[in-house]
Amino acid sequence: MRVIVIGAGVLGASAAFHAALAGAQVVLVDQAHDGRATAAGAGIVCPWLSEASDPEWHRIATARARYLPTLAGRLAGFDEHELGFRRVGALSVSRSEGDLDRIEGLVRVRQAGAPEVGEVSRLGPPQASLLFPPLHPELAAVHVSGGMRVDGRLLAAALCRAMQRQGGTLRRGTAKLLTDGKRVAGAWVGSEPMEADAVILAAGAWAPALLAPLGLTLAIEPQRGQITHLRIEGMETGGWPVVLPPGNHYLLAFEGGRVVAGATRERGAGFDCRVTATGQAEVLNQALAVAPGLGRATMIETRGGFRPLGPDARPLLGAAAGMDGLVIGNGMGPSGLTIGPFAGRLLAQVALGQPSDLPLAAYDPLRLRTGASTSDADAIR
Ligand SMILES: Cc1cc2nc3c(=O)[nH]c(=O)nc-3n(C[C@H](O)[C@H](O)[C@H](O)COP(=O)(O)OP(=O)(O)OC[C@H]3O[C@@H](n4cnc5c(N)ncnc54)[C@H](O)[C@@H]3O)c2cc1C
Repeated sequence: MRVIVIGAGVLGASAAFHAALAGAQVVLVDQAHDGRATAAGAGIVCPWLSEASDPEWHRIATARARYLPTLAGRLAGFDEHELGFRRVGALSVSRSEGDLDRIEGLVRVRQAGAPEVGEVSRLGPPQASLLFPPLHPELAAVHVSGGMRVDGRLLAAALCRAMQRQGGTLRRGTAKLLTDGKRVAGAWVGSEPMEADAVILAAGAWAPALLAPLGLTLAIEPQRGQITHLRIEGMETGGWPVVLPPGNHYLLAFEGGRVVAGATRERGAGFDCRVTATGQAEVLNQALAVAPGLGRATMIETRGGFRPLGPDARPLLGAAAGMDGLVIGNGMGPSGLTIGPFAGRLLAQVALGQPSDLPLAAYDPLRLRTGASTSDADAIR
């Protein structure tokens, strides 16, 4: 079976890898746009501390969090060990005991159905600061030992290389859908037509433009996110937990003193992926309010990317009704590094005509409106 995947972000790279693993002949095409989300994403994987209420979002986010260690093991079999993946735990921090009671209550309910949440405990400010030394000395925390982080760039690149080792092909270029009106028959890659039995469209915030010529509307808009990378000189930070204060900003750390402070959520900026003074001021002010000890850190990098934001918190996943041969994956918004690798596996299963690990009825990719909460997308980190 021939499968073309458009877009090599975390979602498309995972779909291509899983399709190749299942024996398909895969061509993965990517244009490497400035502002692709996977290259900017922070890397938090801890859906259990999210205040989002949509059960379908939790279903897929939790399934994904469960799948991440399995995927890391699979990639190790392809000699891919550098994913920035680590179970570092997470701290939901606040000055308010009431806030922490509420979060602890939420996470304990979720823990009942998800053993990977790990241990849940309450930490006073001194204990919380021991785990994340720059933390404000008045912040107490709920600690969740199962919190993870991953480096989206490393993960997507590893999936692409493993897909190639499995016999797939990675093409740099611009793809368009090749259609006879009733079905998608392949894709144009530049000026070259390529036929396929199925096309998986995982083109992130750019996907609506590929579907418009087919008369299909995809309810996706770009949401700009700006993020800042700092380095604490001479300190090993690889084991530090993810820090989630009230609101939707956060901190996380990687090896080598790297601390990541995120992130803005800007609608209406279109495809302008500049990093702005206002955006950076927001990110740094929020970070320093939570962790004043970062004040002397070195600013090493800023990144901007477009989260593909759907009509609600649920991703858009599955076969496109009325257009044979087309499978769509999109709309992972702020949680694509959490959901994307597992969702890519689901897309590959749909494209290959296999039963999917998770029923996809709730994730209809062409839905424009939904009964699900639209405010949930803001509550997710
Ligand atoms: C600042 C920021 C912080 C984030 N933090 C987190 C986090 O902590 N945890 C988390 O779970 N998620 C996080 N996310 C969200 C996550 O990064 C995204 O949801 C996810 O990366 C989306 O992946 P994608 O593959 O759908 O899209 P993308 O990564 O944008 O990939 C789409 C790809 O398609 C390609 N493409 C588009 N059109 C074409 C075409 N015509 N032909 C060929 N190629 C094409 C593009 O060039 C691009 O490479 C964050 C996002 C941002 C911006």
